[in-house]
Amino acid sequence: MSRTVTVIAIDGPSGSGKSSVSKAVAARLGLAYLDTGAMYRAATVWSMETADLDDPASVATAVRAMPLVMGLDPEAPGVELDGRDVAVPIRSTEVTTNVSKVASNLEVRAELKRLQREIIDQETSTVRAVQARGRGIVAEGRDITTVVAPDADVRVLLTASEEARLRRRSLEVHGAADAGAVEATKDQVLRRDRDDAKVTQFQVAADGVVTVDSSDLDFEQTVDAVLAVVAQAQAATSRA
Ligand code: C5P
Repeated sequence: MSRTVTVIAIDGPSGSGKSSVSKAVAARLGLAYLDTGAMYRAATVWSMETADLDDPASVATAVRAMPLVMGLDPEAPGVELDGRDVAVPIRSTEVTTNVSKVASNLEVRAELKRLQREIIDQETSTVRAVQARGRGIVAEGRDITTVVAPDADVRVLLTASEEARLRRRSLEVHGAADAGAVEATKDQVLRRDRDDAKVTQFQVAADGVVTVDSSDLDFEQTVDAVLAVVAQAQAATSRA
C-alpha cells in the first residue's frame, strides 16, 4: 500500500533560505511548519528575562519551565511566550548574538529536542481524537535531519555558498548588500555557524540526506528543487 510523505526535515547553515523555503514548501503541500530555530530564539529571550545567561544550570531550569506556544501555520507561524507574541523580539540582534550560547547548552538541547519530537508526532498522528491537522509537517533547523527526525520521510540539506548566504542575510537585515552591510552581517552568519557547528552538524549532508545547493537559484527555483526531492521520495514510496 502506498503512503504519503508526512515528515519533511530541512537543515542547513545561516542564510541558506531554510525558513522561507520550508514555509513555502509546507504551504504548497498543505502541511504544518515548525521553525526549530524560533524555539531556540524564544528560549534565549526567556533565559535573558528569567535566568543568568552565564549560568548554564539556571538557563536549563528556565527553559524546562518555559511557557512556549509554537504556531504551526506556514502562512502565519507565531511564537508565544506566556501568552505574549514574541515573533519580533526573537529576531533582534541581541537575541541573534546570544542564541548560540543558549543552543550549546546540552540540557537545553535535550529539552527542545523532546518538545520538537512531541510536535512532529502530534502533527503526523492519525489516532488523536483532537489534532491540529495530522497531515504532516515540514520541520527545519540545524539538527533536524540528524538528531530530531533522522527517520523523516524526506531529509534535505539546503545549502549555498558563503558569498550567497552573506548577501542574502545582508539584504534581509540591512536592506543592502554593499561591502559595509555584508561585513556587518558576518557575525550573524559565519561566527554563529562556527559556534553552532560545535554542537550540531549542518554543513555536510549525512547519509540519506539530499543536498540542494541554492547558490545559483532564486527563491522559486529553490522551492521547486525541494518539491522535486519530495516528489521523488513520494514516487519511491508509492512503488514500494
Ligand atoms: O535558524 P535560526 O537562525 O533562527 O536559528 C537560531 C539559532 O538556533 C541557531 O544559530 C542555533 O544556535 C540554534 N538552533 C539549533 N538547532 C536547531 C535550530 C536552531 O541549535 N535545530
